[in-house]
Amino acid sequence: MAKHIFVTGGVVSSLGKGLTSASIGMLLEQRGLRVRMQKLDPYLNVDPGTMSPFQHGEVYVLDDGTETDLDLGHYERFTHATLNKQCNMTTGRIYLSVIEKERKGDYKGKTVQVIPHVTDEIKSCIRAMVTPEVDVVITEIGGTVGDIEGMPYYEAIRQFALDVGKHNCLFVHLTLVPFLKAAGELKTKPTQRSVRDLREIGIQPDVLICRTEHKIPEEERKKIALFCNVEQGAVIEEKDKEFSIYEVPLSLADNKLDELIVAKLGLTHAKPLDMSEWRSMLDRMRHPAHEVTIAFVGKYVKLRDAYKSVYEALDHAGIANHAKVRVCRIDSEDLRSKDADDHETAWRDLRAADGLLVPGGFDRRGIEGKIDAIKFARETGLPFFGICLGLQCATIEFARHVAGLTGANSTEFDKTAPHPVVCMLEEQVNVTNLGGTQRRGAYPCHLKPGTKARAAYGADVVSERHRHRYEVNNAYRERLEAAGFVFGGTSPTGDLVEAIELPNHPWFVAVQSHPEFLSKPTKAHPLFRDFISASLEHKRLRTAGDRGLA
Ligand code: GLN
Repeated sequence: MAKHIFVTGGVVSSLGKGLTSASIGMLLEQRGLRVRMQKLDPYLNVDPGTMSPFQHGEVYVLDDGTETDLDLGHYERFTHATLNKQCNMTTGRIYLSVIEKERKGDYKGKTVQVIPHVTDEIKSCIRAMVTPEVDVVITEIGGTVGDIEGMPYYEAIRQFALDVGKHNCLFVHLTLVPFLKAAGELKTKPTQRSVRDLREIGIQPDVLICRTEHKIPEEERKKIALFCNVEQGAVIEEKDKEFSIYEVPLSLADNKLDELIVAKLGLTHAKPLDMSEWRSMLDRMRHPAHEVTIAFVGKYVKLRDAYKSVYEALDHAGIANHAKVRVCRIDSEDLRSKDADDHETAWRDLRAADGLLVPGGFDRRGIEGKIDAIKFARETGLPFFGICLGLQCATIEFARHVAGLTGANSTEFDKTAPHPVVCMLEEQVNVTNLGGTQRRGAYPCHLKPGTKARAAYGADVVSERHRHRYEVNNAYRERLEAAGFVFGGTSPTGDLVEAIELPNHPWFVAVQSHPEFLSKPTKAHPLFRDFISASLEHKRLRTAGDRGLA
């Protein structure tokens, strides 16, 4: 029978519940257990995909095309758990399903209520995670205890423990133990209050994970245990990590969290913990032999979370190359800014970089700046990696400046472009019509022999995740090819362009997909890895050139 771990949070938001849940998943996997991970988000949106990156960070995409909260990215980077649509539920989705059932008459005229109908729906989402191949299901509840929106979830997990037996469930509560400078001490009261809130709704946490800036003295730990009614050994300290989020699982392991969970849930078949691969990955990360600077030209560059997976994938590629990757974020609009200072700083940063990355994005803002940056990379031999919109901009740039297609554009930015080299599928002929919706989720890509993309992947056919509406216009493929553009990857039928590159350039590759979603710290994505390696080489040659050695 599968065991369940419920992770809740208290005191303040942004404590890193997603990271903690992912780390718990990882520790259990490293003890030979099979885990599944799930996030229940109390907000009312039905679809996290429509939420602004300004508020919620990146939209993370799964193989099945589900758009999810970025915490699921942590789950995938830390564990091997398979994630699908059922793994990210929102209140909006839960209510939608309840209301649809009510409309169909499923409730046979009964009064439809939060308890039991909404709570039953939540419980069935949790139960849906259980399969014979799963030892432990980890369910993270978004938000903070005490939020109005979260109430049905806490009630549902309380009932769930009654349904499956308390000994099959573990409640883990993440809290903050703040340090008050004026008093010079750690304060446990917020933790006590938040546990009191939980207990008021019938949940007694089994494990408390306390986020703290400073080591929690034994006395304070005793106090937390006593006032929160938690065993002393189950009060786990999680000190802030200055170096990397990838230290979190190790610090939890040092505090014996895995042993505690295994003992409390009676997971007697668990193997001893093996963190050797993870430790050596962190060692490489701590002692890089090189450093490389990547110009990151995008729209939401001021928000770190908006391109979370891309930044993570760059870090992974750094680890694979023994290098520290410094990301220099450039707002693409600044490359075209009328403000002389902004313009100059942006271009100075781009010229100083060892590689250029143009990530995905929507809408026309900043497009011309991205195209200028790509032109610069193409002309100067600066390694370039384009992702989704990055591929589309590279196609437009090449069409305009090399293939002689003046005014070339994407119909997303200019409906009346004389040369719509990027457009929606239904604006093209002879392709399988996908119905005008977004192409989302995993699609196969066939790679052309002899290309850099083929060399990076070391495979003829690969699968990558997508999230876009526009495609390279097939009507222009021949003309672009004749001018030297290489279509290094296509869909199996050849209908859709998946990857492009330039042969007479050190490394100029772009893909229509989002490879950042498949990168892991211990297994960098091959395209990111080779992009960083090319950027290191570019830096080496340039430095040698500056010294007159080239
Ligand atoms: N806006 C482009 C499209 O819809 C690119 C999307 C993206 O980069 N994810 O096709």
